[in-house]
Amino acid sequence: MSLIQKTKAFLGFDIKEDKYALVDDPIFGKVAKDKAPDKWVRTTCGYCGVGCGMYIGVKAGKAVYSKGDPLHSVNFGTLCPKGLSEHTMIYADSRVEAPLIRKNGELTPSTWEETFKHTSDEFKRIQEAHGKGAVAVISTGQLLTEDFYALGKFVQLGLETNNFDGNTTLCMSSAVMGYKQTFGSDGPTGCYEDFEKADVIMLIGANIADNHPILKLHIAKNPKTPKIIVIDPRKSKTAQMADIFVPLKPRSDLALDQWSLLHHFSTRMGR
Ligand code: SF4
Repeated sequence: MSLIQKTKAFLGFDIKEDKYALVDDPIFGKVAKDKAPDKWVRTTCGYCGVGCGMYIGVKAGKAVYSKGDPLHSVNFGTLCPKGLSEHTMIYADSRVEAPLIRKNGELTPSTWEETFKHTSDEFKRIQEAHGKGAVAVISTGQLLTEDFYALGKFVQLGLETNNFDGNTTLCMSSAVMGYKQTFGSDGPTGCYEDFEKADVIMLIGANIADNHPILKLHIAKNPKTPKIIVIDPRKSKTAQMADIFVPLKPRSDLALDQWSLLHHFSTRMGR
């Protein structure tokens, strides 16, 4: 910045009109002129599971803008700071853009061809030395049905082992049985509308104010101003908005659950 520009900025004559100028946009009305996109791509925020609808603005082939989808029923056009910075994540310096193989103790960028061969050679070496069952695969719960199918075939027919399990079995089996036995279906029964209609909302170990702030909008739409009970060892931002805050000790949540159930049933049975 030249001395004249610095002096103008210091004296308040330079209001950086060009930098902060707005232009008309067909979807959002006004957007910053210096990154007005050539087109908007409708998508879903990928940071957390709330599922906010959003548009990514693309200018000269680069993502430059993130905006909430005004017609989306989850977030009504708003985004939390994570969603608002979604386009910057694509160009983050720390983003891994090539497979890494550890060589001499250092993770080293490699080609896909080298990585596939190295992985395949290692699987073969281990199975030749220790048998087919020496390899096991645990998959993520984020795979789509087709991905699950392809991975299952690869493990059974390619690796010739049945040591295959998914995160879905490990983390959801008890929940699924609970849902089925209680409600007759394995789909979780809650929905965002519950926040808008409930008299009481109990949040156990969930810090929605920091982690999923868009859910707070649904609570704000509830005309009954529900009582909020927060059970958490941390005095989080969510705890600060609670009517009742239960700062339980770590690992005492099960005891609290059991006591609550006992109290509930004994009250219903009139004891
Ligand atoms: S709450 Fe934030 S991080 Fe989660 S989906 Fe919405 S915008 Fe993305």
